[in-house]
Amino acid sequence: MDNCIFCKIAEKKMPSKVVYEDELVFAFEDIEPQAPVHILIVPKKHFSTILELKDEDYSLVSHLVKTATKIAADRGVAEKGFRIVTNCNPESGQSVYHIHFHLLGGRQMHWPPG
Ligand code: 5GP
Ligand code: ZN
Repeated sequence: MDNCIFCKIAEKKMPSKVVYEDELVFAFEDIEPQAPVHILIVPKKHFSTILELKDEDYSLVSHLVKTATKIAADRGVAEKGFRIVTNCNPESGQSVYHIHFHLLGGRQMHWPPG
């Protein structure tokens, strides 16, 4: 999609620190990390929010989650603990309107989130 930064990153038209890539998903380091491990996992296909997902897209969601858990293991945070977060729409704090899962780990998390 034109003018979407995460489409551009996933298409490598914009630089990022690539963590993982396959035909469906792209993972890269967050530019403003909120934890020692802060990686964004995005579908290569553009969806603005998770509300746009159709029934047939949910296998992609499971692939995104599976990718996040594999990266958590690779980064050594799986056993200690980590968080997978996706924000949807303004009150959640979503700032980039291309679906992404945040993988956060490497420090004690708190609840409730801010
Ligand atoms: P949201 O607030 O939409 O849930 O998360 C967007 C995330 O994207 C933020 O954590 C922000 O730091 C990250 N981000 C925004 N622009 C860029 C960018 O150009 N490159 C990278 N690597 N991360 C970005
Ligand atoms: Zn996009």
